[in-house]
Amino acid sequence: MFCSYNNIYLFILILYYTSLRKGVKKFLAESILSDIIIIINEAKIYCCLTVRSYTVIRRGLNNILFGKGTNIIMGKTKIELLPYKQQLEEIYYILYNNAGYQKWWPADSPFEVAVGAILAQFVSWENAAAAIDNLKKNNALSIEKICGIDDSILEEYVKPARFYKQKAKKLKNFCCYVMNNYNCSLTDFFNKDILSLRQELLSLYGIGEETADSIILYAAEKPIFVIDAYTKRIFHRLGFLEENISYKNAQQFFMENLESNIDLFNDYHAQIVMLGKNYCFNKKPKCKKCPLLKLCEFADNKVS
Ligand code: SF4
Repeated sequence: MFCSYNNIYLFILILYYTSLRKGVKKFLAESILSDIIIIINEAKIYCCLTVRSYTVIRRGLNNILFGKGTNIIMGKTKIELLPYKQQLEEIYYILYNNAGYQKWWPADSPFEVAVGAILAQFVSWENAAAAIDNLKKNNALSIEKICGIDDSILEEYVKPARFYKQKAKKLKNFCCYVMNNYNCSLTDFFNKDILSLRQELLSLYGIGEETADSIILYAAEKPIFVIDAYTKRIFHRLGFLEENISYKNAQQFFMENLESNIDLFNDYHAQIVMLGKNYCFNKKPKCKKCPLLKLCEFADNKVS
């Protein structure tokens, strides 16, 4: 989107360059210009501009646009000043257009989702899926059966998910809790507001924030944004999150800046996992093929 404020931004850039050429200290020039730009942003004027030399000023703009709700998304020929909400939506649509709707969660029932969320802790989905297959093959995939099964047998079934002793214990504990408190009805267990359900899940043995939120979003179908290691890594590399941000703060960032929509949260998290598994590796990310390459600050240092 281009607007009549192009000239203002062009003027700001010229001012910036002129200041530097005249020997004004960089941080001082940036500070003055950031005030001007923040005033423009606070007036809710979102503009983009085309500059041939945008790559040269990219770093400078990054440094000066630090206010809440301001950041930059850069294309090959433009710089856009957008609020976080629009940036997050733009990222989602790029991922969606690249990979299509991810159809999560791969399960036949809400209970299977909950079982999968527990079994997938610290391992890939393939490991969890193999353990679920074992439970199915042995006709053991139900709340009553898992609660009543012998520990050693359950451990054997969930072995493909690794950490099998712990996971068997967590699974059994979850199932017995639902059986004893909700007469085996997950519907009754889930029939409460998100905060109460989250607190109740977190009070159970072996259920942490990511597992609880996965159960709330994908099994209970209530809108909460799931954070995982991929989310933190990718959005840190894109310049949105601090490197060691807490789960709570990362979740707050997405929940505050995205529409509270179950389908959006569902597929957004799935798209992030897709990107993390296929491109944004911890070491040697495949930046050249990544659909977010043009938006990524981290890639600038990696891709020539
Ligand atoms: S461009 Fe590279 S670092 Fe950036 S999100 Fe993609 S894979 Fe990750």
